[in-house]
Amino acid sequence: MDTPSAAALPTDPTPAATFPRGFTGPDQPDPAILQRCIQCGLCLPHCPTYLETQRETSSPRGRIHLIRAVAEGHLDVADPTFAAQMYECLDCRACEAVCPSGVAYGQLVETARAQIERARPRPAWQRAGRALALGGLFGAPGRFRLGGAALRAYQRAGPRRLARATGALRRLGLAETEALLPDLPPAFIAARGQVYAPIGPTHRGRVALLAGCVMSTAFAATDRATIRVLTLNGYEVIIPGGQGCCGAITIHAGEPTRARILARRNIAAFESAGAEYVLANAAGCGATLKEYARLLADDPDWAERAAAFTARVRDASEPLADLLAAGDLNTAFTPLSLRVTYQEPCHLAHAQRISRQPRQLLGAIPGVEVVDMAEPTLCCGSAGVYNLTHPTMANRLGDRKARHIAAAGADVVVTANPGCHLQVRASLARAGTAIPVLQLMDFLDAAYRGVDPRGGPERAP
Ligand code: SF4
Ligand code: SF4
Repeated sequence: MDTPSAAALPTDPTPAATFPRGFTGPDQPDPAILQRCIQCGLCLPHCPTYLETQRETSSPRGRIHLIRAVAEGHLDVADPTFAAQMYECLDCRACEAVCPSGVAYGQLVETARAQIERARPRPAWQRAGRALALGGLFGAPGRFRLGGAALRAYQRAGPRRLARATGALRRLGLAETEALLPDLPPAFIAARGQVYAPIGPTHRGRVALLAGCVMSTAFAATDRATIRVLTLNGYEVIIPGGQGCCGAITIHAGEPTRARILARRNIAAFESAGAEYVLANAAGCGATLKEYARLLADDPDWAERAAAFTARVRDASEPLADLLAAGDLNTAFTPLSLRVTYQEPCHLAHAQRISRQPRQLLGAIPGVEVVDMAEPTLCCGSAGVYNLTHPTMANRLGDRKARHIAAAGADVVVTANPGCHLQVRASLARAGTAIPVLQLMDFLDAAYRGVDPRGGPERAP
């Protein structure tokens, strides 16, 4: 439903001081950001939901209209239309990256969601589910690993075969969700302050790795590959103890208060690591770590510490690309005769503006030809848990991505985010296309080890 109509929405900028109290309490959409939107519409052709629906309200400009309507008191924050649009948005931030006025759209939608969650009471079962998932699992690394171990037992022992063979998953409406799950590896990574020495004579100093929650369990092999790639390039790598989930899922779910707890824990954990950089190998995690300064800006005890932390955060590809540019990258790669296409994670391309570094690193491997797919920066539909909460739109975007990948004629798809990896893999499988998907660090690691990356990451600890 495309309501309220654009005609009924405010179009003239309103001075910040005159905004009625459409939003209340902390975490309000910033009126100064709202006012920056000049309604030019340049963001529309870059918005995945607009491209799929061709509806103004499903566009960045339409959503900004809605946020302004609430801010000015024309629309109730608890209006279902408002919530539907704020959550139909993938928070991919493609609009933000192309906006000539510098509208920080990600902040707008995340604060709007926080307002919705405060204003609109969810049913008790939903509140319990969110508390269990966001607090009980993502907020507790040990429990997250336990959950991963249980999932691995389900996958390795009889239950999965039984659930699939009997059609129970389909009857419960869980077949698509289950198909998205990665096969869990035998060993996870628990952050305990492990230190990995640089390999070779060059010592470039220490970097601290965010092991992550999904990365340290389902993608533990990628964490290990990242450590190998970094140590092969002269870095000492520490995995500081006491760290946990970055908070990306929590922020996207409109729960900034919970996210601040995770941010403070990570800042404290990394402060004593003695590292030059805090590295993330998942786009969503890196983008979130880079937001800690803003998240804690109003906390007098943490604002300064958060700003210092954020200043040290890098995606793992950044220092490696810097080495490449300086002619200092370890280029002891085994040549790979492969055509590779790179699926740009939104939170790398749009939120962190990192596009060329992964392509440059891939191109540094002898024999690798990097070919661009159409719309490489268009969201694949993963967007945190969006493919679970909005499967129809997510599948449309995933199918669109699979078509572009197939047309690119690549042997391998490389990406740098676990959600994109799983979404693209599932979309390719739906399309009957057997092109393997790899994480950037797994691909580089395979080239260093002299193995064909199409065999998948090294899964042995
Ligand atoms: S490009 Fe920026 S200023 Fe133009 S409509 Fe989109 S958000 Fe507003
Ligand atoms: S964040 Fe992405 S989905 Fe949301 S309005 Fe911007 S471009 Fe569209």
